[in-house]
Amino acid sequence: MRKRNHLPNPARAFVLATFLLVIAALASGQSGAPASSCADCPEWNRPQQPFRIYGNSYYVGPHGLTSILLTSKAGHVLIDGALPESVPQVVANIRSLGFRVEDVKLIVNSHVHFDHGGGIAELQRLSGAEVAASPWSAEVLTKTGVGKGDPQFGVVTPVALVPRANTLRDGQTLRVGDIKLTAHFTPGHTPGGTSWTWKSCEGRRCLNLVYSDSMTPVSAEGFRFSDSREYPNAVQDFEKSFAFLRTAPCDILLTSHPDASGLWQRLEGRRRGVRPDPLVSRNACRELAGRAGEQLRRRLESEKGR
Ligand SMILES: [Zn+2]
Repeated sequence: MRKRNHLPNPARAFVLATFLLVIAALASGQSGAPASSCADCPEWNRPQQPFRIYGNSYYVGPHGLTSILLTSKAGHVLIDGALPESVPQVVANIRSLGFRVEDVKLIVNSHVHFDHGGGIAELQRLSGAEVAASPWSAEVLTKTGVGKGDPQFGVVTPVALVPRANTLRDGQTLRVGDIKLTAHFTPGHTPGGTSWTWKSCEGRRCLNLVYSDSMTPVSAEGFRFSDSREYPNAVQDFEKSFAFLRTAPCDILLTSHPDASGLWQRLEGRRRGVRPDPLVSRNACRELAGRAGEQLRRRLESEKGR
């Protein structure tokens, strides 16, 4: 048995902990378990203190990948599960806000790439929550881990599978307690992409929140958005998604990657006491639609030469 005064000093403890983490990372790499899922993942997975966005809506993800908790007295909803290695952070963030992961009744997602859907299987196991997804995404989540027709098919890491997922209709509203959450199919980045809208209130002031899926035309080498055989509707799908962003009632825009909507700058403004609250911006959804449309236009232009 160790006595207290034989414990290593803090510096030695840090070196030892780092050494053990490296050994654990190497060991899990050999066994195929995700120590780190991608080159950008350690950056995306940097710890982030959770915070209240508005009313019953909280940010509980790591710094680079959004995960949203919506709370009610009758149970909670979680939107997106970030990376497999993000799960301990998401759980700790939920707890530090005074809520319990066991009270999460429903888990939904933006799109089933490993950086947003990778943590869902473990979060489902820890909470016992129902999982609901668009038909294309439900198939990926429960059966294949990665979808044919995904522009990133062949390069994207499959997601861990969940035992069961309910399939959604476009425009369907889900309820948990007094939470009413509506699914809007916003395909393009993947064929199953889904954005979410709901209202959160503080006193009598209720705001429209929009959680936008990724709108970026990112693909594996050789994939063409303009004429893909595996995903022939890619361009029309993107146009539908941009139309959603242009027309959705939108007081607070959140995005699956927080940087896509400048979340950290806006939060910094709020911390400095800027008024009105920089998180509330009625043009944010339309501006995102404009940026995303321009990105797609440039991508399609570049495909003409190939
Ligand atoms: Zn993605």
